[in-house]
Amino acid sequence: MHLADRINRIEVSATLAVSAEAEKYKSQGVDVVDFGPGEPDFPTPEHIKQAAIRAIEQNFSKYTAVGGILPLRKAIVEWHRAQLGSNYEPTESIACTGGKHALFNAMHALISAGDEVLIPAPYWVTFPDIVKYAGGTPVILPTRAEEGFQLTAAAVEQALTPRTRMLIVNSPNNPSGAVVPPGEFARIFAACKQRGVWLLSDECYSHFTYGDARPFSAASIADSKPHVIIIGSLSKTFAMTGWRLGYVLAPKPLVDAVAKLQSQSTSNPNSITQHAAIAALTGSMAPAAAMLAEYARRRARILAGLREIPGVTCAEPQGAFYVFPNVARLLRPDTAPDTLALARRLLERAHIAVVPGDAFGMTGYIRISYATSMERIEEGLRRLARFFQAAATTAP
Ligand code: PLP
Repeated sequence: MHLADRINRIEVSATLAVSAEAEKYKSQGVDVVDFGPGEPDFPTPEHIKQAAIRAIEQNFSKYTAVGGILPLRKAIVEWHRAQLGSNYEPTESIACTGGKHALFNAMHALISAGDEVLIPAPYWVTFPDIVKYAGGTPVILPTRAEEGFQLTAAAVEQALTPRTRMLIVNSPNNPSGAVVPPGEFARIFAACKQRGVWLLSDECYSHFTYGDARPFSAASIADSKPHVIIIGSLSKTFAMTGWRLGYVLAPKPLVDAVAKLQSQSTSNPNSITQHAAIAALTGSMAPAAAMLAEYARRRARILAGLREIPGVTCAEPQGAFYVFPNVARLLRPDTAPDTLALARRLLERAHIAVVPGDAFGMTGYIRISYATSMERIEEGLRRLARFFQAAATTAP
């Protein structure tokens, strides 16, 4: 079939492809340890569910304003102000159908053919594909595991060109868990501002930070508003992946452009979800704190377990709920020459689902999500250790 050029420029999301493959095994009754999912394994908190039930009962089932009802936009900016020190008006916010949708629309409102978008690697799989779909050129800026995958202002400065339109920073990072410290973030912002480059900050994991790292928004940097686009999502913070609610915070002309695009595509985000989102944003943050405490326990366990496997090295993630171990020494030219083949083999032989690092722009790594129970983590670690031990003894 002859499809449009733009659709041929992109791939099916690798993370979704992994879940589909794992699902096949599960549907055949195979006990898969699923380290694939990029979503909390916790249920949506009760008060949020109840708000949605009330919204259904009260018939909030009509179209709403394209960018979400005003109480929701107020709740978004107020939550963001209180939690992350920003200073937006409701007119500088727009609710979208998930953070991915928010990203898609903001990038399509800004990127033209020939624009370069600087994307630090490892990166969330979707960033380069959205850039390509918008007609832009992703320019990948690798970070180093030995430096904890840290993005630095010096590296950004070197990579900026006259064609750079935007830098995407995703801190905490999916897949590496790296967190950009506030001082470095301010220097990165200054480099962008000086060169007239938009700083798009994907803060979907803002509230999952460990150790000394704290929730932080680029919007709290002084005088950043004219140059910064914030992408937020309720998916991870409030365990609401399926509800689909994300947002853009940005200067009003950009928000209006996003609203225009939304008005001709998806229209408003789900009306029931909007009421649930208000309850989430105006309610207690205790459920998010409880999830964080559990993730912290799992992070410690999985890090220790992985580091015990000969040949595996793993930087300590400072945020999100992923580890990104280096398994390059365990690749084998005949059976698993790259992490794509390794992931396939792990699923076939050990019934473990992971996402190959190649999907995130890094060869030699796999992404393991610890948004799964401690018991499954223990089982997964046992299987990984066994698998790699067997692979080592059958090495050519
Ligand atoms: N940004 C990053 C870095 C993500 O990892 C994800 C989801 O995995 C999203 C954005 C989008 O999430 P959602 O569309 O569910 O809000």
